[in-house]
Amino acid sequence: MHKANMKSQQIQKILHIALPLPFYRLFDYIAIDNQELKPGIRIKVPFGKRELIGILLNTSSHSAIEPSKLKPVITIIDQQPILSSHILKLCKWSSNYYHYPIGEVIFNALPAYLRKGREFKVPSKHQAQDRSDTKIHQTHNTPIKLNQNQQTAINTINKSHNIFNTFLINGVTGSGKTEVYIQAIKQTLANDQQVLVLVPEIGLTPQLVERFSKRFIEPIATIHSALTDLQRFKAWQLFYNGDAKIMIGTRSAIFAECPKLGLIIIDEEHDISFKQQERFRYSAKDLAIVRAQMLKTPIVLGSATPSLETTHNVTLNKYVELKLPERAGASVHPEYKIIDICKQNLKFGLADSLINSIRKHINNKNQVILFLNRRGYAPVLMCHACGYIATCKNCSANLTLHSQPSHLHCHHCDTKKPVFQKCPECKSLDLQDVGVGTEQLELGLKHLFPHVDILRIDRDTTRKKNTLNNMLEDIKQGEPKILIGTQMLAKGHHFPNVTMVGIINIDHGFF
Ligand code: ADP
Ligand code: ZN
Ligand code: ZN
Repeated sequence: MHKANMKSQQIQKILHIALPLPFYRLFDYIAIDNQELKPGIRIKVPFGKRELIGILLNTSSHSAIEPSKLKPVITIIDQQPILSSHILKLCKWSSNYYHYPIGEVIFNALPAYLRKGREFKVPSKHQAQDRSDTKIHQTHNTPIKLNQNQQTAINTINKSHNIFNTFLINGVTGSGKTEVYIQAIKQTLANDQQVLVLVPEIGLTPQLVERFSKRFIEPIATIHSALTDLQRFKAWQLFYNGDAKIMIGTRSAIFAECPKLGLIIIDEEHDISFKQQERFRYSAKDLAIVRAQMLKTPIVLGSATPSLETTHNVTLNKYVELKLPERAGASVHPEYKIIDICKQNLKFGLADSLINSIRKHINNKNQVILFLNRRGYAPVLMCHACGYIATCKNCSANLTLHSQPSHLHCHHCDTKKPVFQKCPECKSLDLQDVGVGTEQLELGLKHLFPHVDILRIDRDTTRKKNTLNNMLEDIKQGEPKILIGTQMLAKGHHFPNVTMVGIINIDHGFF
């Protein structure tokens, strides 16, 4: 009896499967027949009274569980792996490093569309290869003569073909970093490899994609949070097949599967949106470096203001720094002026000299941006009698006063409260708003410039689908306007008619 048991244990094939559950272990099941099963396929299994979709990680003839207790799987969904061994390796690394359950990490890497077990036909390698070959070497030619620093940077990166190296392109805005990325991408595509470009959440603008599309004839896939599950899946699939040569995506794109990755680029590498801050917390930048190391490919980080960890790694000689100290092309350094507002009489948070400058540029039929990284009416509501400040009970951050509609809002945890009429501490009616947010600035400017078009662009005014795009189109028409914006407006846009930018309360950024 004992012997028979041993024997059956050896012939039975045990499947070790990752399930999307908050456990750190794999789950063992018995294969239905003895067909060859590859890691990375989806399998439907019984789990208690439910049925779950899991991903096969490996097979063996042994299980730590008593064989009689193991259940057979229900169906094998995929014939070919939908996740390659290198993405599975990256997931295992993440699960270990970030202490997050392996099944949940893997399901995070998979497009939502595929998590539910929808059919997906993996095209044969041969097909994907054929299609890609027809598109190689036909890149658009918009010849730009690189300057010396750009040329040095690109030569250094190109020497790292199929070699893991982390590069930092450290260059001010307009120094031609994107031009270096483009040249590095061209070289990688010419080597018949694919490129993954990670950009910050608000960096993935239509302008950026348009710029890339103008320079590459190869199909570009994009992945970002505004896509539907189906759109996301389609983009994922294009890169997976090798049809899209370039993937431009926000942080989750780091898990995008592709057959021949040859280069990873992270633009604005200092941006915090590369970190996922909830549930499975990870840094897409760290993962990108691990992925590049696994695949022996170069990775390029770019920034005008590199993060401290990156700067530290440059000092340790772990990263190679490539400097672009000067602006490229025809653009010139902007002229800066600091307005010391000490003892000045401010109108709606603006100094007279700033108001005069705005007037001058508007009268010259230009556009002006006022950058204020605080949405709402005022960042603080304070009791003038006792000094009480309205704070959020959940996170002790100050509540922001909003006027449209009137409420108090915690920008950290999204708690909303009605505005109180009396101080909760001393019952005084003397409540005052302190500081200026974008709503108040907008009202103030309408008062100061009653005949000028004023456009406020922040999360509150762009909540509805397409409003942001409509506003951007409106700005592109070039009519004189004052644009008020939070960081949404600060990056990645090209506004040719803007001739002046005012940054309000810049000290705030230091705190
Ligand atoms: P960054 O990414 O560092 O902000 P870009 O690559 O966008 O800089 O370059 C800024 C502008 O300068 C773009 O309009 C670009 O086409 C132009 N440019 C970049 N490099 C050169 C060059 N070597 N010669 C002429 N124009 C250039
Ligand atoms: Zn009070
Ligand atoms: Zn809060």
